[in-house]
Amino acid sequence: MRSLLTLFALSISFPSIAQQIVFLGNLQDAGAPQFNCDKSCCLVERPNEFVASIGVYSGEEAFLFDATPDFTHQASFLQKQSKTKLSGIFLTHAHMGHYTGLMHIGREASNEQSIPVYAMPRMADFLETNGPWDQLVELKNIEVKRLSGTENLKTISVTPIQVPHRDEYSETVGYLIKGTKKTAFYLPDIDKWNVWKQSIIELIQSIDYAIIDGTFLAEGELERPMSEIPHPFISETIALLDSLPKAEKNKVWFTHFNHTNPVRDKNHPTRLKLEKEGYHFAEFAQEISLN
Ligand SMILES: [Zn+2]
Ligand SMILES: [Zn+2]
Ligand SMILES: [Zn+2]
Repeated sequence: MRSLLTLFALSISFPSIAQQIVFLGNLQDAGAPQFNCDKSCCLVERPNEFVASIGVYSGEEAFLFDATPDFTHQASFLQKQSKTKLSGIFLTHAHMGHYTGLMHIGREASNEQSIPVYAMPRMADFLETNGPWDQLVELKNIEVKRLSGTENLKTISVTPIQVPHRDEYSETVGYLIKGTKKTAFYLPDIDKWNVWKQSIIELIQSIDYAIIDGTFLAEGELERPMSEIPHPFISETIALLDSLPKAEKNKVWFTHFNHTNPVRDKNHPTRLKLEKEGYHFAEFAQEISLN
């Protein structure tokens, strides 16, 4: 009887609200078509292909993860899907695809008021001490919130996890996003899995969704030395995860595709083969549930 009462009380205090992750983009920072690329990957602009970002909405809150150059399409779509106003933005790092979309909320644009922007200390300093971003701070278009651990929002919690990446202007983080029942990890950029002190295999086993760096499919994709811009190749990630059961592979969603990455093509044989093995590839407007 007591347990029934407890259940009843819990259901009152936590009414079941949809907690959703919506994919808002799947491309590397420079998007596609890329300037001066005259290869087949950039011949035609494909509809609804935007720079990597996710939205997370739950109840009356809707958060954007990264402010990409495609911010306008992405934040508008998030507001439409969530039927609520943008509640805040979590930034991963200071590379062009991940924060420059903030330009769309300043005085020359929609002139928002006090949008919370969650960032690690170096990233926060970067925004506050460099133009034009410092103007967003001075004019109170954004309110910079320094992250020092888990951020408890109304119905979800968000924890930054630092990763090795080319940190010229800021740290780089991935985010653990915890809903009522399920947890997702969002990590669009990391140099290589083996230079990180954490094991990606153990992390995947402890969560429900891993939305991770799939920038390049394999070595040889670019004509310039790929060691200058290290990322775990999808070929390396699947080799690392090979011994895991299909249920674990099923948690993986690749994103942040370079314009040259053949997996952008939904019918590419390698992509179809990997999907059969359980892997997913992020596509605009797809949703997954945190409850
Ligand atoms: Zn990036
Ligand atoms: Zn291209
Ligand atoms: Zn980056």
